[in-house]
Amino acid sequence: MLPAGRAPGAVPGAERMGADDVGMTAIFDALRFAAVRHSRQRRKDVDGTPYINHPIAVVDTLWRVGGLRHVPTLVAGILHDTVEDTGTTPQELRSLFGEEVAAIVLEVTDDKDLPKEERKRLQVEHAPRKSVPAKCVKLADKICNLRDVVHNPPSNWSRERRREYLDWAERVVAGLRGASPPLEELFGRLLREGRELLDPAGAPAGE
Ligand code: NDP
Ligand code: ZN
Repeated sequence: MLPAGRAPGAVPGAERMGADDVGMTAIFDALRFAAVRHSRQRRKDVDGTPYINHPIAVVDTLWRVGGLRHVPTLVAGILHDTVEDTGTTPQELRSLFGEEVAAIVLEVTDDKDLPKEERKRLQVEHAPRKSVPAKCVKLADKICNLRDVVHNPPSNWSRERRREYLDWAERVVAGLRGASPPLEELFGRLLREGRELLDPAGAPAGE
């Protein structure tokens, strides 16, 4: 775990480091933190892939496809499911990673007290009002989940449920326009490929 008593958002020894080293240190801190917090969780695919693979895929997408170099956005990408899916509190994120990172993570965190259908509806409704960093994290998250739903889906999902997920993700992403053209472009391409693969014409009867 990270050392206690760290000043908000500060990387220890930052005054002796260059900006790139401060950024890398923050990324490794976030990876270590997310790995611990998600350590008992698995994705819903048939192999039960370790959950941490997903936040790593999200930050990799932000870096490689989105070309993002803004460290708080990259750190938030790694931490994006820690409040929603682990016991992590907003205050913990503030004190360990700083206000900017915590604010982005909270922007992409659903209110789990609401029923699932309502949460889904609010994601669509709220998407256009998110900040640019939060839109980028959401886009990368939807890209990774869409790819999973198409190629490595939850083990008990029917083809129809996977298609419905694609439709819903498309509605969310429609509200995220303008934040990152390369991420939008990749989402669009994966959506088209996914629809071809999950097309009813290609599905055996009954699915
Ligand atoms: P969920 O939100 O329950 O499940 C998808 C989420 O699970 C992802 O967003 C991802 O979230 C996480 N996840 C974990 N493992 C995987 C994986 N291998 N592949 C993809 N996602 C994974 O989705 P819903 O059940 O709500 O489905 C969405 C749509 O489907 C809605 O439009 C809903 O109306 C419809 N639906 C259809 C049903 C049917 O039987 N026809 C039943 C229920 C919903 P994270 O990144 O946070 O981990
Ligand atoms: Zn996620």
